[in-house]
Amino acid sequence: MNLAILGPQGSGKGTQAQRLADNYQLLRLETGKILREMAESDNPDAEEIKKTMLDGKLVSDNTLQKIIEERIESNSGSGIIFDGTPRNLIQYELIKNILKKRGENLDKVIYLEIPEETTIERLSTRRTCERCNRIYNLHTNPPPTPEKCECGGNLRQRSDDTPEAIAKRLNEYRQATVPVLISAKAEGKLVEINGTKSINEVYDEITKMLNLN
Ligand SMILES: [Zn+2]
Repeated sequence: MNLAILGPQGSGKGTQAQRLADNYQLLRLETGKILREMAESDNPDAEEIKKTMLDGKLVSDNTLQKIIEERIESNSGSGIIFDGTPRNLIQYELIKNILKKRGENLDKVIYLEIPEETTIERLSTRRTCERCNRIYNLHTNPPPTPEKCECGGNLRQRSDDTPEAIAKRLNEYRQATVPVLISAKAEGKLVEINGTKSINEVYDEITKMLNLN
């Protein structure tokens, strides 16, 4: 089973992706995280990736393809869950082609829908640990204290998590992603989920829609 999970920032897709990966032995392919790690490594592509990310752009299709193929190659699980990709129609076709070459399909595209106000509300109360990068939410997933992580590290709010910056990112995200959703729907692959409910309710809804329970 190969899945992709998409949704605007704050939709909780990372949490759901990890749960699905754990419970169904899927490789969670979080390309954003892989790219951040590569940018900090001595990888030959590190400089290019770093620059692209600083500019707020998407990495080249070649780089994305390389990353995905390398990770899939060594995967011994029973499938993959793409977390946060595809970000646009080109990446969607790319992922489908990579899987096709392996005689596989992208089976379902899960979309966690939340209203813009929810994204803004969730992101502005988000805090990240400087030491271990753990992400908390002051309301839904609170840290031991508003300033400290469980590991003792200091918590920070991302400087680009202002309501204006969030609204701008959301708009860009939607423009790029809507064509993916339209395409996935036409192919009978789209699973739309209301992402405003609790983590458990959203998870139950996903497994129900995928006929996993
Ligand atoms: Zn920490």
